[in-house]
Amino acid sequence: MDIVQIKDKRFGLTISEKEILNAIESVAQRINADLQDKNPLFICVLNGAFMFAADLMKFVTIPSEVTFVKLSSYEGLMSTGKVKEVFGLTENLSGRTVVIVEDIIDTGKTMANLIESLGSKNVAEVYVATLLLKPEAMEHTVPLDYVAIEIPNDFIVGYGLDYDGYGRNLRAIYTLIP
Ligand code: 5GP
Ligand code: MG
Repeated sequence: MDIVQIKDKRFGLTISEKEILNAIESVAQRINADLQDKNPLFICVLNGAFMFAADLMKFVTIPSEVTFVKLSSYEGLMSTGKVKEVFGLTENLSGRTVVIVEDIIDTGKTMANLIESLGSKNVAEVYVATLLLKPEAMEHTVPLDYVAIEIPNDFIVGYGLDYDGYGRNLRAIYTLIP
């Protein structure tokens, strides 16, 4: 399946499932080595990171916990700039090593905002694990501890990421065909 149609748009295959899983395994190995004795709490940012978090956690072998938060700032093809609230974080984060698990860092605004919202929770340290990074789009300073794959500044779908709600179930990553 090299081209997929989602609603009014066509997307071309860019990153295969195998390539994605290899990159995730490498990230997990680094996390396993770095955070061995830290009992990290992984915070998966829904909805986009659900598939990444699931595969990442299968390669994580150290004692750790996983939780899920929800926030969204992206509607259609362009970032709205609005950052919404964080929902669902009920864990006590005091003294914890936290790893935020995100699908993609575009401008970095969402991640910067999320990290700021953890500021009041007495977290010991915060790491960021992102499946994708668009280095050319970055406008905010965010820690980039674990980046699986860097991509150009194009709109992509698949592997958890959507176009208008659709395409999250695709096993690979597809780029918008202009
Ligand atoms: P940022 O705040 O870094 O500009 O945007 C981050 C959020 O925008 C991501 O969590 C993701 O939901 C969405 N996003 C950014 N780039 C893309 C993209 O190429 N495709 C999709 N589907 N979502 C994106
Ligand atoms: Mg996201």
